[in-house]
Amino acid sequence: MFKSGNYRFSWKDLGDIEAGRPNLGNLMKVAVYRLMQYTLRDVLNRHLSVEKATELFREAGKLAGTEFCVNLLDRSLPFNGFMADLQEKLLSLKIGVLRVEKTDFEKMEFILTVAEDLDCSGLPFADETVCEYDEGFFAGVLEAYTGRVFDAREIDCWASGDRTCRFKVTSKE
Ligand SMILES: [Zn+2]
Repeated sequence: MFKSGNYRFSWKDLGDIEAGRPNLGNLMKVAVYRLMQYTLRDVLNRHLSVEKATELFREAGKLAGTEFCVNLLDRSLPFNGFMADLQEKLLSLKIGVLRVEKTDFEKMEFILTVAEDLDCSGLPFADETVCEYDEGFFAGVLEAYTGRVFDAREIDCWASGDRTCRFKVTSKE
């Protein structure tokens, strides 16, 4: 599976968690998720470069967003309904509290905010945004929904001193 050179992620690879963890169940601590992500970041930064690691996190986030959209969201809904569906799923999975702050369909530009973000809320102040995985995630979700190519950049982050992460998502076409 993972050791195959041509492994490509598929939603079913997440496995049957109910069957696999009959006693421990589906939940674990946020710190464990962050431990995985930040140690991976440490290793990628050292073995590659900060720039490359950032790019890879964003790319992985985009893959996650695309698969999330295809497997969990209703792509037949109009935009507002679709975003409400996304908001509800992010909330029920305890990923974060999403708000659509601004939409501009002419420019295909969106401002999204995430409060209590899984990736960064509560981090010590670092004067930098850290949610590259989320950047990719939102770009991936909107790409899978619209069929257009999107780019997302985090403009405010808990780590940069804000209480809410804020993402500017723009169409690259
Ligand atoms: Zn953030």
